[in-house]
Amino acid sequence: MTDGPLVASAWLKPDYRSALERAGARIRELTPLAVLPDALDGCDAVMLTGGVDVDPALYGATERHPSVQIDPERDTYEFALARLALERDMPLLAICRGAQVVNVVAGGTLIQDIPSALAGALEHRQAGAKDQPSHPVRVTEGSCLAHLFPNTAGGEHALDVNSRHHQSVDRLAPGFVVSATSPDGIIEAFERPGSRFCLGVQWHPENFWRSGSFRELFDALVDAARRYRAGRSDTKDTTAST
Ligand code: MN
Repeated sequence: MTDGPLVASAWLKPDYRSALERAGARIRELTPLAVLPDALDGCDAVMLTGGVDVDPALYGATERHPSVQIDPERDTYEFALARLALERDMPLLAICRGAQVVNVVAGGTLIQDIPSALAGALEHRQAGAKDQPSHPVRVTEGSCLAHLFPNTAGGEHALDVNSRHHQSVDRLAPGFVVSATSPDGIIEAFERPGSRFCLGVQWHPENFWRSGSFRELFDALVDAARRYRAGRSDTKDTTAST
């Protein structure tokens, strides 16, 4: 699909590419050599991917849990990328670490290590295959996420998700609302009401690209990206290059 909207992303692994491409997106892979904001010229959406932990100093923590692994170069680059996406209200899908980046950029904080912080927490680092669900989440009625997954069983609006994280949102950033929580109370998804499309998920929907589970998330990003492209001034000007 050559005319699909252009989604900017960084630190991409193959499953992310496959999930985006199946939804009809083109991908611009960014690296720290791609200078922002110019690297976003012509882009219609941003997807932030999973990876190492955000430096706790960036949300004001004075101590770092021993399990925390950081990448300062990645933090610097992705914080700038997330900030631009939020300021411009570009369609934004943020996955795992990406969701944590968005929350911190917008003023929230993180739980540094779930097993240490929450007695009785579920196992959020599943042992099984990446593309198998391991715990449910309850979806907030009326949320964007609920709209994307309208199936409910017996009034319980739940999704079964995979889980490959040891951190999560602690204090949610101002302007965001919780879209889903796990039974132990961990915030598993959040969104920014009033945005074109701005959703963070703590699980890894890209790992399901073969089965198509959770493709709704990538389809929604690409749909929002198409609408964003239609409204961009540089695409209305037929003389402008893309
Ligand atoms: Mn989880």
